[in-house]
Amino acid sequence: MQTLFPHIPHLHQPLWMLPALLLLAAGGAYAYWLMRRAAQSSPLERRTWCWAAVLLLAATLACTGLIALLAFDPTPSGAHPARQMLPIALSLLLGLAGSVALFLHHHINIQPIRELERMRQLADGAFEGIVLCRDGQILDVNLPFCVLLGLSAQTLRECTITQLAAPNSKEALEKLLRSAPHSPMEIELRNGDGSFCPVEVHSRSMEYAGLPATVLAVRDLSERKQAQLRIDHLIHHDALTNLANRLLFHDRLQRAMAETDRTGQSMALLYIDLDRFKSINDMLGHANGDDVLVQVASRMQDATRRIDTVARLGGDEFAVVQPRCLSPQGAATLSARLLRILQQPILIGAHPVAVCASIGIALYPQDGTTVEELLQNADLALYRAKQSRGSSFCFFEPEMDLRLQERRTLEIDLQETLKNNQLYLHYQPQFATNTLELAGFEALVRWKHPQQGNIPPSDFIPLAEETGLILSIGHWVMMAACMEAASWPRPYRVAVNVSAVQVQHGSLAETVSEVLRATGLPPEQLELEVTESLFLGNLDAIAATLRDLKRLGVHITLDDFGTGYSSLGYLRRFPFDTIKIDRSFIAPLGQDSQADAIVQSIVALSHSLKMDVIAEGIETETQLSALQSTGCDQVQGYLLGRPVMADSLVSLREAGIFAPQPAAASPKVAAAKPPSPVPSPARPTLVPSAISAD
Ligand code: C2E
Ligand code: CA
Ligand code: CA
Repeated sequence: MQTLFPHIPHLHQPLWMLPALLLLAAGGAYAYWLMRRAAQSSPLERRTWCWAAVLLLAATLACTGLIALLAFDPTPSGAHPARQMLPIALSLLLGLAGSVALFLHHHINIQPIRELERMRQLADGAFEGIVLCRDGQILDVNLPFCVLLGLSAQTLRECTITQLAAPNSKEALEKLLRSAPHSPMEIELRNGDGSFCPVEVHSRSMEYAGLPATVLAVRDLSERKQAQLRIDHLIHHDALTNLANRLLFHDRLQRAMAETDRTGQSMALLYIDLDRFKSINDMLGHANGDDVLVQVASRMQDATRRIDTVARLGGDEFAVVQPRCLSPQGAATLSARLLRILQQPILIGAHPVAVCASIGIALYPQDGTTVEELLQNADLALYRAKQSRGSSFCFFEPEMDLRLQERRTLEIDLQETLKNNQLYLHYQPQFATNTLELAGFEALVRWKHPQQGNIPPSDFIPLAEETGLILSIGHWVMMAACMEAASWPRPYRVAVNVSAVQVQHGSLAETVSEVLRATGLPPEQLELEVTESLFLGNLDAIAATLRDLKRLGVHITLDDFGTGYSSLGYLRRFPFDTIKIDRSFIAPLGQDSQADAIVQSIVALSHSLKMDVIAEGIETETQLSALQSTGCDQVQGYLLGRPVMADSLVSLREAGIFAPQPAAASPKVAAAKPPSPVPSPARPTLVPSAISAD
């Protein structure tokens, strides 16, 4: 080696220079790479990378120096020992110098790094995510943004912002990046777990590291969206059953109609009403009633398809929008299914409750072209279904509409009756069964309609009950009847029919007491006739009202006995004085031994409960004599006297009706006198002499 490099003294192993130089190049390059990495990383990471670079460079230089020494003769002849150490000292010095240089470089940079760290902490402390990007490439992000997407800063820095956007948001985000500053935009970003997160993004342009960049402020909207969804759900759903409410129902109905227009397929609207749900509520209490509704709702959901909408329209009213159905078979099949599953008893505690329902069906487009029309026609069909009693469904038919129109007109006219003095009373006499002595009269209301003539009470009383007009009509009837009876010189009893609505209203006792005071009629002369439909209401409240009435001293009769919902329990529980056997039991009397037996047992039962019995609808002698043999207390019917105007009662005397008569004489009363024009109810019309002359 000496001969190869004679001009370089002491270099006796020059090949060792090669690994030394290679190590220097590799170590230097790696230290340089670490420094670059440090420049790109977060302030905290940067410190680590810097120190790693410093130590690596120091170690590289020191090692390079030491390896390089192997190339030299460690003991050159005549060299001073201190000179022999020189290369080692030089290599160590080189390493030290490099390290110091790097350390100084690091130290000089530490101040701005600290500054940056503070900025970073500030950014990380922000509530919003912050993203710095250039041409879509993410340069830096703050901690909240990493937390929001569940990704590390390092991973995010390797992405473009559009890569993070949900497919439906990519275009919007690109637009926002192109034209920053842009008004805030709501988009969706993809989370680390693949789900999407709704965010609001604000953008602004800025200069970063001497080049233009875009900064995005990203606000998490998940909570707000969830709250919004909850509110939306509440707005569109029934709180009790979680079914669609009226609002959503209208929307779905409209959509289904629009779809039917497009596709030409059929669509049905089912209007469902639970029968006698009120009595379930009254008997079991409202909490249990609610339970029944919830179970009914869930059964309906189960019986329908996903594309159908089941809605609760209020109370016990439900509806189903059935799009894409094979009309009318599809609607009929669904209705039958609904009725079947609703009929299965619902368990409330240990009690099975049977629920019946009625369904009215309207088809689109044949039964109506607007939401209102369809609903109205389905409601009409429901009305018809309800009349057929028991669970049933009914399709809309155009004649129903005509009847509704008539009903509406009647309803409007009915409101005017009291103002226009169109109501008046007829009185039908009642007699002691055996002696046929006059006992009293039943007041029966009549309506003289200006165009339609006389309208029977069976046509307008139910309407008055539905509209609540029965309260004012009932008050008028009571006042007129009591005034009339108070003018009679003999204390004949007057029976006034009282609707269940009046009793349930709760102010009946007050009204009666006020009327008695105003007319001066002794309470024992007034008899109130209530029907069995009363038992469908709140029984405790009804019992209380009836007791109040009894305290006033008036008599109470259970009318139409045997046609409704009576049970022995009711007869014992309520303070009735008299039971009035319905006409339907009287008609077959004397010809049907079973009918005779029924009437006999009703009479015996009533007497055992200390109640009187009156039979109504006696039209034949056979019926009268059959009743006479049963021990029935009183009788009433066309055979003995038809309902007549108060002033016609004069002719009753003329017909000899006020005196005890043989039964054969009474039918004459039937033709006593036709009703005369409407009298003013305020004027008592019974001629005193008619009765005093008796
Ligand atoms: P109701 O209380 O059962 O009255 C008896 C009905 O039977 C009356 O009909 C009467 O005219 C009729 N009638 C009486 N005797 C005979 C007979 O021998 N044969 C036949 N076929 N019928 C007979 P009206 O006056 O048409 O009353 C019908 C119903 O309207 C009454 O039935 C009652 O429920 C109701 N109503 C009448 N007036 C009033 C009222 O002022 N208030 C209330 N809430 N309802 C009333
Ligand atoms: Ca009656
Ligand atoms: Ca009756």
